[in-house]
Amino acid sequence: LEFANCNFPAKLQNNLELAGYALPTPVQMQVLPAALKGRDLLVRAETGSGKTAAFLLPIISKCTMIRTRYISARTKPLALVMAPTRELCSQIEEQAKVFGKGLPFKTGLVVGGDAMPQQVYRIKQGVELIVGTPGRLVDLLAKNPIDLDDVFMLVLDEVDCMLERGFRDHVMQVIQALSQPQIMMFSATVPPNIESFASSLLKSPLVVAF
Ligand code: AMP
Repeated sequence: LEFANCNFPAKLQNNLELAGYALPTPVQMQVLPAALKGRDLLVRAETGSGKTAAFLLPIISKCTMIRTRYISARTKPLALVMAPTRELCSQIEEQAKVFGKGLPFKTGLVVGGDAMPQQVYRIKQGVELIVGTPGRLVDLLAKNPIDLDDVFMLVLDEVDCMLERGFRDHVMQVIQALSQPQIMMFSATVPPNIESFASSLLKSPLVVAF
């Protein structure tokens, strides 16, 4: 697999080249085709494997195609990434901005520490992707009606870490607000509790390990 065969919008392909991404990493070779086809995924991969781009590129590609095809007055979020810490969320959002530069692709960050009204305001102005921690997302949804009906892609990153931090109920509460999205799960380790969590959520997933 090469990035050139992924059918990405030209600007996205260009942004990849500018970022110095010449060849997909092994994780990306497995994940990109399946994710682009809409399959659920359980991926055992650590930081450094290129997992972030593996889920961001399909998200950006699909969101861009939707936005260019169907111009709507109100922009509801189309994709959601949950990760265990604000630092990780912030890194994911930064990467999404680099890849999404010049495309109709905006991002919103929902993490503790920053003022919630600003985060809500930005989302209501219209974003394609929300990146946030489960706790803060639950908090925000409890206080503000945010329509997540159009979210069709969900990523749970570092799932082992999210469950260790006791975020299971929060993750489930956020998922209740969505309408059956494609789910991509990433975890550095897949012990039995992650495996059963995954099988309770994923529909005939592609399971890969690196
Ligand atoms: P991650 O595993 O997502 O934390 O990525 C690890 C690092 O590898 C990040 O700095 C990425 O920018 C970089 N990276 C990911 N995929 C590629 C690629 N295909 N070519 C070059 N660098 C990459």
